Amino acid sequence: MKVARFHAPGDIRVEEAAEPVAGPGEVKIRVRNCSTCGTDVKIFKHGHHHIKPPRVMGHEIAGEVVDAVDAVGWAPGDRVQVIAAIPCGNCQECRRGRMTVCPNQESMGYHYDGGFAEYMVVPAKVLAVDGLNRIPTGVGFAEASVAEPLACVLNGQELARVGEGDDVVVMGSGPIGCLHVRLARSRGAARVFLVDINAERLETAAGLVRPDAAVHGGDVVEQVLKLTEGRGPTSSSPPRPPGRRRNRHCGWPRARAGSASSAACPRTPRSSAATPTWCTTAN
Ligand SMILES: [Zn+2]
Ligand SMILES: [Zn+2]
Repeated sequence: MKVARFHAPGDIRVEEAAEPVAGPGEVKIRVRNCSTCGTDVKIFKHGHHHIKPPRVMGHEIAGEVVDAVDAVGWAPGDRVQVIAAIPCGNCQECRRGRMTVCPNQESMGYHYDGGFAEYMVVPAKVLAVDGLNRIPTGVGFAEASVAEPLACVLNGQELARVGEGDDVVVMGSGPIGCLHVRLARSRGAARVFLVDINAERLETAAGLVRPDAAVHGGDVVEQVLKLTEGRGPTSSSPPRPPGRRRNRHCGWPRARAGSASSAACPRTPRSSAATPTWCTTAN
């Protein structure tokens, strides 16, 4: 079978590999879709301290079960999505249900061969933490493979309390930004404005997700104030407009009373809408 293996920064090879064999408690899947994450691009350029090459990359994985050996509850033909980060299930954080901040996390495509392959084995460790998800009817493999990024976006909008009637500003028009626009709409936002410093990328994204306005260049804050009749957004995500100073209390420099903001960062369980932890995403 063919795989895409990371050998060194700048050196990913599409090469032949023996088809993997599932061991006891493991599940072998035929990969039907494995999306490219922004992190994959970073790994390609710089490597990663958790990857000891050679390693098959890819962690946004969806496929179908071809061999379940003795893994209870799974059978050939099952359509599945695989979690990207694998919590240990045993530490204090995991036992308290805060698996996203498990300090012993490992990841598909980093510690284990990932989904840039025709077939791959889902480690028993994934099954032990209930990390193999059944894809519902009506959801395609490509859609299922972005379940993890969408979960991050969902978490962000829950923290920012995006809801009915909100004016939402999304900064960054990559895949994560596009998901933010669509999710804000489905949560009942009145208007969604998409901002980016890259005009070409913004135009492509705006064509796909149709924000109420695509904002680029000049003073972004002034433009959004104009679009919102001088009131500013009720929600912004991520919170800091490009080029603006960081502000620990509210990302939008002149936010409307009662507004909230959210940063794209899945590993910040203590952050709240009022005091987001500052992370930026290249996605
Ligand atoms: Zn990713
Ligand atoms: Zn843990």
